Amino acid sequence: MTSHTEQSAVTVLGLGPMGRALAGAFLDAGMRTTVWNRTPGKERELAERGAVGAPSPEEAVGASDLTVVCVVNYDAVDTILRRGAVTDALKGRTIVNLTADTPDRARDTAAWAAEHGIRYLDGAIMTPTSTIGTPAGVFLHSGPEELYREHRPVLDVLGGTHTHLGEDIGRAAAYDIALLDIFWTAMAGYAHALAVARAEGVSARELAPFAKGIGVILPPLFEMGADDVDSGLFSGEDNPITSAVSSMAHIVHTAESHGIDASVMRAAEGLARRAIGRGHGTDGFLRITEIMNPR
Ligand code: NDP
Repeated sequence: MTSHTEQSAVTVLGLGPMGRALAGAFLDAGMRTTVWNRTPGKERELAERGAVGAPSPEEAVGASDLTVVCVVNYDAVDTILRRGAVTDALKGRTIVNLTADTPDRARDTAAWAAEHGIRYLDGAIMTPTSTIGTPAGVFLHSGPEELYREHRPVLDVLGGTHTHLGEDIGRAAAYDIALLDIFWTAMAGYAHALAVARAEGVSARELAPFAKGIGVILPPLFEMGADDVDSGLFSGEDNPITSAVSSMAHIVHTAESHGIDASVMRAAEGLARRAIGRGHGTDGFLRITEIMNPR
């Protein structure tokens, strides 16, 4: 394993809000940090704190054994990295790609890296920029275990918890997609709830304390749901899907009576009704997982 001292240099490509937070954490730890961004100017504040602004991505990656890339998506990653001079400069070095995208794109990038003698780890950041460099950050990683262990001391500089999910390079992105699926569907539900509540004369502020209560109900359901879905047994003892569908119908009815689009709830209700139609009315709501993706 390389020592922390040998790993005291790092390059960050991409200086959006997240890239700047990552570079800032490396600087705070006293690491020699080289940065590059497509649009110049975003390195200014980091340079004042000691970062070296590279004039090109090839010079940036040439300055460190380890390059962390964090841009909007893998199209942007490809635009930056898959150019002769940059690819050549990366040979024998390591990329940790903390950009969010799909598992397929992660696998494709890993294949490209292997083809060009570049060592590659994929990762996902599950928490906002304000958590970087603090205990609250959550980072997921996938790819060769040995490579992960080698660079773990540098990754630890970013704070928070780091979890290596396995050698399948697409695994971090798979977790990211699943977790963001929960997040955005929940946020869509929250937005819809606020629209319906306002139509009924309830302000977002008035609803907030009770909305938080709904959030608290979810973690134990995730625990119970994990057993249900992994075992394929969906006990609906306390809350059968027939009861869930009735509650959903009330929401759809109220929303549409105010002319509010209820398509997200209608989609969920439709899946639940299909489960009932197939004889699963006494099962729990998560039976719809099987309707969406039969095992
Ligand atoms: P963005 O997702 O908006 O990414 C901005 C960065 O992408 C900038 O460096 C921008 O360069 C670069 N970029 C965009 N298009 C291109 C291109 N065609 N070629 C080269 N560079 C390009 O902001 P963030 O920094 O917040 O996010 C970066 C990644 O981190 C994303 O994948 C995001 O999902 C993930 N993430 C972000 C979180 C957050 O709280 N912000 C939380 C968790 C994950 P330029 O300045 O030149 O436009």
